[in-house]
Amino acid sequence: MAKNTQQQSWRLIDVLSWASEWFKTKKIPHHRRDAEQLLASVLGCKRIELYMYYDRLLSIEERERYKKFINRRAKREPLAYIIGDTDFYGYEFKVGDGVLVPRAETEILVEKALNTNLQKNASVLDIGTGSGNIACTMALERIDLKITAIEISPEAYKWAEINLKNHNLTDKINLYLGDFLDDKHEQFMTEPFDLILANPPYIAQTEMPHLEAEVRDYEPKTALIGGRNGDELPILQLKKIANCIKNDGQMFMEIGSDQGASMLKIAKQLFKNAHIEIIRDLTNRDRILYIAGRWHG
Ligand code: GLN
Repeated sequence: MAKNTQQQSWRLIDVLSWASEWFKTKKIPHHRRDAEQLLASVLGCKRIELYMYYDRLLSIEERERYKKFINRRAKREPLAYIIGDTDFYGYEFKVGDGVLVPRAETEILVEKALNTNLQKNASVLDIGTGSGNIACTMALERIDLKITAIEISPEAYKWAEINLKNHNLTDKINLYLGDFLDDKHEQFMTEPFDLILANPPYIAQTEMPHLEAEVRDYEPKTALIGGRNGDELPILQLKKIANCIKNDGQMFMEIGSDQGASMLKIAKQLFKNAHIEIIRDLTNRDRILYIAGRWHG
């Protein structure tokens, strides 16, 4: 009898319920989904498949691995770091310590960029590529594009290298380790670009204590903080972008949902003859600053 009960409790479905309940007491957002995704990752299956094999017993080794995973998540480590990858635009990107987890909002930037009637072989620059999600997705969707990606952080750069390799894009994307703002000789550029994409750090330093623990305690500050007010670094990037883009070039820059009006005003002051727009995300919040030449008058 005792043996039966013991066996019963290691059924996949019971372990899952237990983990989910525990997450709930720890106030983990999406506690059931996270418990499922972590278990699916341990078992190497899809989330939905958990319910097809719900009375399968977990081996000791599987239990140990699951336990480690749920302990990490209980400390609010981002799910994607624990699992080791995340989905962006339907493609898999490896992530972990030192790199920003690609966000769903950023998919809109890629979608808009792909819809701009870019000529064949157009040149594209992705500033602050992080995991390489934007650059790789553009390349996978439009193999003719000539893409350059630049990243300042050596840790994040390593993740970009991994993702370029996994998507067989090492020879397609010109990946460059360096500071876009400080590279006086623009070594990443042979000629001005047709299209520039950027998801710069845009969170205000003062906002940091109020962010979710997953972001605040785990994701790299260099990828998040844009300065005291949050918009300092994006504005510097904007000024420098003007030196790196063709006169009729287009730019999409992700912005904070509270930065639409101010970024629009600044961009209009800087580029008087350009077409400038703020694009909203699916939740109807300001999300992208779009500028289409004329950049240089
Ligand atoms: N370009 C990457 C992304 O959009 C990283 C951006 C960043 O580190 N701020 O997810």
